[in-house]
Amino acid sequence: MDMTIIGSGYVGLTTGACFAEVGHDVTCVDNNPDKIKTLEAGEIPIYEPGLADIVRKNVAAGRLRFTTDTKEGVAAGDIIFIAVPTPPQPDGSVDLRFIEKVAREIAEVITDYKVIVDKSTVPVNTGEKVAETIRRYAPEGIEFDVVSNPEFLREGSAVADLLHPDRIVIGANSDRALALMQKLYEPFVAPVLVTDINSAEMIKHAANSFLALKISYINAVAAICEKSGADVEKVAEGIGMDKRIGRQFLNAGIGYGGSCFPKDIAAFTAISEQIGIPFNLLNEVQRINASALSRFVDRIRETLWVLQEKKIAVLGMSFKPDTDDVRCSVAMDLIEALVGEGAEVTAFDPKGAEKAAELPVASRIQIAPTALDACDGAEALVIATDWPEFEALDFAEVKARMVTPLIFDGRNLLDPETMRKRGFEYHGIGRGTAGSKP
Ligand code: NAD
Repeated sequence: MDMTIIGSGYVGLTTGACFAEVGHDVTCVDNNPDKIKTLEAGEIPIYEPGLADIVRKNVAAGRLRFTTDTKEGVAAGDIIFIAVPTPPQPDGSVDLRFIEKVAREIAEVITDYKVIVDKSTVPVNTGEKVAETIRRYAPEGIEFDVVSNPEFLREGSAVADLLHPDRIVIGANSDRALALMQKLYEPFVAPVLVTDINSAEMIKHAANSFLALKISYINAVAAICEKSGADVEKVAEGIGMDKRIGRQFLNAGIGYGGSCFPKDIAAFTAISEQIGIPFNLLNEVQRINASALSRFVDRIRETLWVLQEKKIAVLGMSFKPDTDDVRCSVAMDLIEALVGEGAEVTAFDPKGAEKAAELPVASRIQIAPTALDACDGAEALVIATDWPEFEALDFAEVKARMVTPLIFDGRNLLDPETMRKRGFEYHGIGRGTAGSKP
């Protein structure tokens, strides 16, 4: 089928490449000419495992192309996906100006029936607004349908998530649009849930909020473990073995971050307030998340006593492993907090260093070329992102390079007992009496 994606970022580009991979004819539009130039030159502006290969393969096969021209994009597809940003406003509600702009742009160039699909994460009732906008600005009599098709991909495993999704949610109020969407998704082996548009929009915010709630739940448990001598990793294992709960997203740490969770939870909270049914539980989820980081910084300060001029190595800058995305990364918030207290931070990230270097805090830190280089002369080593390769470091060499062998593991990546045997003083999250001094 012929389809178009407007917005070729993390979601749009990966979605476009995966639809091309299953045989569709895909046009990816972006209004950032540099991004399109990069893509046309065969380079991929983001790091996502497996993405570069399928982009190159499908461009070569003639199933995937890029343009800055929305008119050309709309003409090329029967189904038009919108995958533009939906950033938060200061009060947490969603800034819908990008969505509105694309709806207007589509309206100005639409000439025949199209299915307009909202892939961006949007507040409930946005589909109605998109339809209203297109109707207002499109030539009279033009037929179209709006569909909500929320995206559940996880950065770091986006290609696999798109090719083998847990579920496909299609929110449609028209049989004609639904039939086209079902045909589009025919090559994918996954359960398809058909709903009305409002429910599909709500599913995405409710799902992300629930996942964030699970993270905050275990972080609240971790805080209690820390004071009572229990080990949160054992507690999470014990809870997670209950099939009704599951082990995933019960990883204690310095909290959730990234471009989705913080904004989506804030958005759902704001939506509930606007509707007059305040979802106070989500305020608590956000409060616990913020306190997970501040408790960790307190722990570093209490141990090192004074942070001023202390050399601290921070491993990890991306918001999670296997991505270069540093947007709203808790690792960057942590670095900012340490620098704010006068610490001298040297940071390393396997993929995110380049994007981190563009952030304002980068001018106040050193970025090391390797994890071991970051440890040179350090008085403490902080794990901020759980990249698996940090677990496999040569810790004898790490210790040799450090001034004092102190580890603060913000992701419970390392085993406390092993680190103790290796001669480190180890501080994890909610590890009770596990680890500590060698
Ligand atoms: P992104 O910033 O990486 O990409 C958005 C792209 O849209 C940018 O390249 C931008 O240049 C382009 N754009 C903006 N306005 C445009 C216009 N008028 N015409 C053409 N292009 C335009 O954002 P993203 O991470 O891909 O997220 C997009 C949406 O998907 C958001 O609503 C987000 O919440 C949602 N989402 C993201 C993820 C994720 O993991 N990143 C997962 C699920 C859903």
